[in-house]
Amino acid sequence: MNVGGPMSDKRDYYEVLGIGRKASDSDIKKAFRSMARKHHPDKNPDDPESERKFKEVQEAYAILSNPEERRKYDMFGHDRPGGSPFGSGGFQGVNISIEDLFGGGFESIFSSIFGGGGRPRSSKGTDLLVSHSITFEQAFHGTEEEIEIEVLNHCSSCSGSGSETSDGIRVCPTCDGRGRITRIERVGPFHQQITQDCKSCKGEGRIIQNPCKICRGEGRSQQSKKVKFSVPPGIDSGTRLRMTGHGESPKSQNGKPGNLYIEIEVLNHEWFERDGADLLMALPVSYVDLLLGTSIEIPHIDGELLKVKIPAGSRPGETVSISKRGMPSSRIRGGRGSVMVLLKLAMPSKVNRVTRKQLQEMREELSNGFSDITEGLIKEANDRRRS
Ligand SMILES: [Zn+2]
Ligand SMILES: [Zn+2]
Repeated sequence: MNVGGPMSDKRDYYEVLGIGRKASDSDIKKAFRSMARKHHPDKNPDDPESERKFKEVQEAYAILSNPEERRKYDMFGHDRPGGSPFGSGGFQGVNISIEDLFGGGFESIFSSIFGGGGRPRSSKGTDLLVSHSITFEQAFHGTEEEIEIEVLNHCSSCSGSGSETSDGIRVCPTCDGRGRITRIERVGPFHQQITQDCKSCKGEGRIIQNPCKICRGEGRSQQSKKVKFSVPPGIDSGTRLRMTGHGESPKSQNGKPGNLYIEIEVLNHEWFERDGADLLMALPVSYVDLLLGTSIEIPHIDGELLKVKIPAGSRPGETVSISKRGMPSSRIRGGRGSVMVLLKLAMPSKVNRVTRKQLQEMREELSNGFSDITEGLIKEANDRRRS
């Protein structure tokens, strides 16, 4: 490569990706994805022309996906003042797997190319996940909850610095305070920029000479903390509520705390099962109730009685649907799901003598309604085969 000199032999980055100069970030990403897939070395083994194109596409993407670099390129083209933004060696190419191109793992690879090792990294604290149980009624109405968690928080004794005294911290000489060390490694046909945490300071960029006795220089200690949160009405089991910034404090002082996720477990209702916003239940009723029809009132979670109307001539296994009496849901018109009542035939375990006599008298009347048994069998089979 023509190092340092004018690079007029280079193709225009927009042309390389086959996009216009006004292309949006997502257009650029899309174009890169498809070109990089096309020219990926895994798809074109031992093809120097593809290899060259793959690298060319990467370079174009590295520049155009970075707002600052794109602006400079739009202004000066390839002959920008100060020479190649990739340093005197020019663009070296990065090692991207086909999986990265499908999943999107390539963004972080590119974003670390420019200004990767400048400032100490602002790490984020670890996210935490806790689970919390509520009753079915609380899930219906929504609720305000408070929990107590143990969390790694900034040590209050050293205000997170990890040092017993304010002058006991010095900049790490190995990494010059960056916390990271960058080196170039050859991977296959490419040079890859590899950035690792500095081993001398464990990525902190500083070394503590007189560690805080409470947190032993960690800057953080386990503390119990109360967290209040509200659970929206209609919440389902397994939903995770995010409490931004309520996770662990970051290792370094300039990072952000992690998030706390609260996974809600809704305890079983005495008779309802749940299907999204719908509530399912089985109602045991007598043969007479099915035959003649009836109306049954049941106490319901919304505080009003739930009236189940069973039409005359109902059969066991049929369902009665009552709309807008299920769980609240913003995704449903009317704001509530339905209650689905499955009719079950309840058989009395005992029949007293008087009833037995009456039933015997009615046996003929309540028979299957067919003149002989084969007629009933045939109709039943036909019904079954039709359904
Ligand atoms: Zn260091
Ligand atoms: Zn401390």
